[in-house]
Amino acid sequence: MNNKLAAVIIFLMISVMVKAQDNPLLGDFNSPHKTAPFDKIKNEHFIPAFQESIKQGESEIEAIVKNPAAPTFDNTVVALDRAGRLLNRTAGVFFNLMSAETSDELQQIAQEVSPMLTKFQNDISLNPVLFEKVKAVYAQKDKLALNAEQQTLLENSYVNFIRQGANLTDVQKEKFREISTELSKLSLKFGENVLKETNGYQLHVADKSNLTGLPDGALEAAAAKAKSKNKVGWIFDLNMPSYLPFMKYADNRELRKELNLAYNSKAFKGNEFDNQENVKKIAALRLEMAQLLGYSNYANYALERRMATNPAGVYKLLDDLYEASFNKANQEKAEVQDYAKRNGFTGEIMPWDWTYYSEKLKVEKFDLNDEMLKPYFELSKVVDGVFGLATELYGITFKPNRNIPVYNEEVIPYEVFDADGKFLAVLYTDFHPRAGKQGGAWMNDFKGQWKENGVDSRPHITIVMNFTRPTESKPALLTFDEVETLMHEFGHALHGMFANSTYQSLSGTSVYRDFVELPSQIMENWAVEKEFLDRFAVHYQTGEKIPAALVQKIVYAQNYLAGYLSIRQLSFGYLDMAWHIQEKPFNGNVKEFEENAWAKTRIFPVIDEVCMSTQFSHLFAGGYAAGYYSYKWAEVLDADAFSVFKEKGLFNKEVAQSFRENILEKGGTEHPMVLYKRFRGHEPTVDALLERSGLR
Ligand SMILES: [Zn+2]
Repeated sequence: MNNKLAAVIIFLMISVMVKAQDNPLLGDFNSPHKTAPFDKIKNEHFIPAFQESIKQGESEIEAIVKNPAAPTFDNTVVALDRAGRLLNRTAGVFFNLMSAETSDELQQIAQEVSPMLTKFQNDISLNPVLFEKVKAVYAQKDKLALNAEQQTLLENSYVNFIRQGANLTDVQKEKFREISTELSKLSLKFGENVLKETNGYQLHVADKSNLTGLPDGALEAAAAKAKSKNKVGWIFDLNMPSYLPFMKYADNRELRKELNLAYNSKAFKGNEFDNQENVKKIAALRLEMAQLLGYSNYANYALERRMATNPAGVYKLLDDLYEASFNKANQEKAEVQDYAKRNGFTGEIMPWDWTYYSEKLKVEKFDLNDEMLKPYFELSKVVDGVFGLATELYGITFKPNRNIPVYNEEVIPYEVFDADGKFLAVLYTDFHPRAGKQGGAWMNDFKGQWKENGVDSRPHITIVMNFTRPTESKPALLTFDEVETLMHEFGHALHGMFANSTYQSLSGTSVYRDFVELPSQIMENWAVEKEFLDRFAVHYQTGEKIPAALVQKIVYAQNYLAGYLSIRQLSFGYLDMAWHIQEKPFNGNVKEFEENAWAKTRIFPVIDEVCMSTQFSHLFAGGYAAGYYSYKWAEVLDADAFSVFKEKGLFNKEVAQSFRENILEKGGTEHPMVLYKRFRGHEPTVDALLERSGLR
C-alpha cells in the first residue's frame, strides 16, 4: 500500500508548516497544574513535537558529553536522569492517547515515531563517551557518600548502559541498534494486529430466539450497538462487556462457540493481521539481543533485574503453585462436567461451555451471579467508596476540576490533595469502552514526579477501564470483577500519586516488573470486606446496603474455581517462559510450540483454530516478556502484605502509613526486597496466598 508513503510526505510537509511556537506540545503548558492541553493539541502537532523534543534531548545529552569538567555524580548521572524531559512529556501525551483514544492517523504517527525514539535511546546507551563518564563515576561509588536513592540511581545508570550494549564492539553495537529498532516496530505491529482483529469482528444476531439466557442489560447494550451501526437486532463483539455476558449466559451453544473461537483465534487466521511470524521474529530477535550481550537466553537477561532474579526463581514459584493447584483444577472441571450432565448436556465440556456451565453451577452452589451484585455497584458510588478508602487510610482527598482539559468528554480530571492540604497529584478517570480504546484496564502517567531545586514536581496519573456503560434504563452498574479492576488500577494510581523520589527514573511505578503489582493487587483485598463495602455498596434503586449474606457469598465464591484460575495463569506463565528460555531461534509451528509449552497445565482438549501466542500482547507488544509470572508473584506479595491489615485492622492508619512510607512513596529507589522487608518485617511466603485461595 502507498498510504504509508503518502502519510510520510504529508507529515514532512506539516512539520515544515507548523512552527514551534504554534505547537502546543512544545510551549509551556498553561492549563491547571501544567496538565496536557488536550483542547489545543491536534494530530499534526505530534511529529514536529517529537522531532523538536528529540533535538532538545540530544542537546542535553551533548552538554553532558562535551562537559570539560571531570565526571561527577551530579554533572553526569543526575544530568542524565533529567535529560529528555520534554520528550517524556510529549511521549506521555502521545502514548496515552494511543491506548485510550487512538485512530488510524495516530497509529500511523506511532509507526513514524517509534524508530525515532529507539534511535534516540540507542544514541544515549551506545554513546561511548557517555558510558566512560558513567563508568568513571561508578568506579568511585564507595567514596561518594551517596544516600540509598543516589546509590540506586548510579547503579541503575551503570548497569543499564551495559544491558543496552555499552560494552559491545562497534560492529556489535550496530547490530544491537538494528535489533532494537526492528523489535520496536514488530511489537507495534503485533499490538495493532490484535486491535484490528478485535474491532474487525462482530456477531450480528437478528433473531431474538437465539439470545435466550442473556440478561436484559447485555441485550440492551447489544441492541444499542446494532442501532448505532444501523442494523436491526443485536450485535456482540470481542470487547469484554459484550463478550463475557454472552459466554456466561447465552443458551445457544453454536453461537457461544462461534464467539469463543473468534475471541481466541485473534491474529491466527492466516490473514493480513496474522501474528505467527511476528511471534517467532520477536522471540528470535530477543534471543539474538540477549546472546549479543552475553546471556544464554532472553529470560536470563530480563530476570537479572527482577525480584525473582533468574529463571530458576520463576520456575520455583510456578511449580510450587502448580503442585498446589492442578489436582484441584481437575476436580473443579469434573464438578462442572457433572453439573452439565445433570442438566442434560452430553459429551465433553469445551471452553465455550466452561464459562456458561461454571457460572450456572456457581449460582447453584452459592446462589450468586453478576446480576445479583451489579445493582449494589453503581459506578459513581464505587468511585466514592474507593476514593473514600484512600481518604480513610491515607487522609488524601479528591476534587473534580473541569478546568483541566481532557481528551474525551467522558474523562473526569481530579485534583488530589494530601492530608495536610498540599497538592499531591492530578488523577484522570476514563471508564467506558470506545472504538479507539484498547481493551482491558490500565494506569499510566502523563507526567511523572521528581524534585529539582527544592521543588517537588507532582505527577499526572490516569486510570482507564472498559466498564459496562449506562443504558437508557440503568446507570453504569459494575460486575464484582469490574469493582476489583477499579480497585486494582486505583492501587497503581496510589503508587504513582504518592511518589516521593528525587529522581524521575526511580519514581512511582518505576520498580521491578515483579514488584509493580503489589500496590494494585493489595487493594483488591478490601473489596470482599463487609466493613468496607457498607460504605458505598448500596442498591441503586432502594438504597439498601449490600446484605451480609451476599458478602459472605462473595467470599465463598471468590475461591470458586481457584484451582482452575491458578492453572490458567500458570499456563500463561509457562508459555511466556518457554518463548524466552529458547537458546536457539524457533522456526517451527507456533501452535505446536504453544501446546508443548503448557502441556502439563492442559485441562481442555486442544482446539486447532485457537492460539494464545498470536494475541498475547503482554509478551509481544508489552513489557511482560519473561515476566508474566509476576502476576502470581505479586499475589504472593499482596496476600502476605494484606495479612498485616487483617491482623491490625482494615483501616489501621499506622499500617497504612508504613505501607505508604516503605512501599508506595519509595518507587524504585531501593531494592524491592529491602523495601518489602521494612514494611513486613520478613521476606514474603506463599502461605497467606494458599490459605486465602483455599488451596491449602
Ligand atoms: Zn496491574
